[in-house]
Amino acid sequence: MKALMYIGDQQMEVREINAPDGAFLVKVLGCTVCGTDLKTWKQGHPYFKPPTILGHEFYGRVERAPEESGYKPGDYVVVAPYGECGECEMCRSGVPQLCENKDYVETGAFCEMIEVPLSFVERGVIKLEGPDYVYALTEPLACVLTALDQLEIRPSDKVLIVGGGPMGTLAAMTLLEQGVDVRVGEINPKRQEKLREWGIPCETTDHWYAQDKYDKIVVAVNVPALIEEAVRKVKSGGKVHVFAGLPSDTELKIPAKDLHYRFVQIMGCSGFAIPAFRRAFEMIKKNPARYQALITHRFPLEKGQEAMETLAKGEAFKIMIEP
Ligand SMILES: [Zn+2]
Ligand SMILES: [Zn+2]
Repeated sequence: MKALMYIGDQQMEVREINAPDGAFLVKVLGCTVCGTDLKTWKQGHPYFKPPTILGHEFYGRVERAPEESGYKPGDYVVVAPYGECGECEMCRSGVPQLCENKDYVETGAFCEMIEVPLSFVERGVIKLEGPDYVYALTEPLACVLTALDQLEIRPSDKVLIVGGGPMGTLAAMTLLEQGVDVRVGEINPKRQEKLREWGIPCETTDHWYAQDKYDKIVVAVNVPALIEEAVRKVKSGGKVHVFAGLPSDTELKIPAKDLHYRFVQIMGCSGFAIPAFRRAFEMIKKNPARYQALITHRFPLEKGQEAMETLAKGEAFKIMIEP
């Protein structure tokens, strides 16, 4: 089968590799490029050493399935790239995102065929009514829901999302749907235009952080200074969420007085657990057109390199790669 391999040094290359031959196979129809994929391509990643196949936000068509799995060849599905065991200490202590025994699909999804471990099918695979590429966004939306859950947003809260990239936008869309007063802080005029097109209110200057304006601030860009400022400026009793990943040696300067005297809470998360994946799926199903707008570009597998370059230049919002 064809696979788009990340071979290091900002290079992607289509290679012919052996197709998986397991009991449950899914033909990948599309996989969106995640911020993590882009970051890996740009500067490498401790977990994804080249040559490897990236991509984990995908949907597809069942190619092979045993009868007892409840699926048959031809079924359209979206697949969680991983899932928690439900039994380990982390799962039992209410942090399934940090499960120590996760099940994973066998490889990245920028390729033609994916194997799903049989033991994971019931938890990780969801049947679709048809081949709709919007469901590739189930995984990023699940990550967003996880962060929003953590913030315990109340209907009366004023929320600021710093950064109007795909994750920030998904967060804003979700909160708007819940009737929450939310704004996205974004300084890139092209992005502002998109956000307005989608009915998302923007803060376009650096007055984002006007003291005592926001109850919750989600920092969805990887700029440490913006996190530090959010802690100083969020309302007393408010919460700041470190949603964008930062290099692992990043240290933050947080004034202790804001935590102690102003009751500010700071938190963060990454990834998702299966219940959030299922909720994300249901949300997209209710309003697919709204989410589809986020996928602004689609590239065939062969143009994977061009896709990454387009994303790196900031010319696209969410890009889908279609094997
Ligand atoms: Zn992702
Ligand atoms: Zn577990």
